[in-house]
Amino acid sequence: MRIHIITIFPEFFSSPLKFGVLRVAQDKKALRVNIVNLRDFATDTYRTVDDYPFGGGTGMILKPEPIFRAVESVKSESSKIILLSPKGRRFSQRDALNLSKEEEIILICGRYKGVDERVRRYLITDELSIGDYVLSGGEIPALVILEAVARLLEGVVGDRKSVETDSFTRGILDAPYYTRPQDFKGYKVPEVLLSGNHKEIERWRIREALKDTLEKRPDLLEEANLTDIEKEILSEVRNGKDREG
Ligand code: SAH
Repeated sequence: MRIHIITIFPEFFSSPLKFGVLRVAQDKKALRVNIVNLRDFATDTYRTVDDYPFGGGTGMILKPEPIFRAVESVKSESSKIILLSPKGRRFSQRDALNLSKEEEIILICGRYKGVDERVRRYLITDELSIGDYVLSGGEIPALVILEAVARLLEGVVGDRKSVETDSFTRGILDAPYYTRPQDFKGYKVPEVLLSGNHKEIERWRIREALKDTLEKRPDLLEEANLTDIEKEILSEVRNGKDREG
């Protein structure tokens, strides 16, 4: 997959791209990241990328011409052209999964008071927000999307099952985990996890994941894609038949 990120701060990305999943994805050639400096596409000698808003008001606006030129310089027929914006649809694990199947994605990072509206109306294919709060630029949102997508690319995370059990993948939260020591300051690891009984452990994990989801994010269960066993355990949890937790 190729990802182009259009930004006025290209250096912003140098450290995040060097670590963890983003590094691995690039090393394994599953991901190619191209950072595009918006200023290179300015049309004047001062490399201006922003200007005052028509009609007045505070804050500068990113001009349309450099953004259109930058996108046109990298896009192909199948490119997804995404504007990061707090007004966009809220990015979810489902979007990450859909984007992970694309060949080429272009992410446009806004700055200042925002981006000329003609970019949104006439250039992009999607407008995505990473949540209901306002940041000063689209660079961190672009990294959020990049990382969420990169870990879903084929061959990047070694253990597929790990990704499949992560929160949201199938519409429920992940189970709780423990590691050594078994007894930490008197706080014990649940007995069942030490039992070696894989079937029981699996049921316990499902039950805990469902309990957590029911308690913290009941909204997720409305659209969750549950297996028969999960449905059975969920109804036990709902009916208070659960005596182990
Ligand atoms: N005036 C705008 C906010 C501009 S913030 C408004 O209120 O809608 C500057 C830039 O930061 C935006 O153009 C966008 O690219 C980015 N940004 C800020 N918050 C974001 C969020 N929650 N999700 C995605 N991008 C965001």
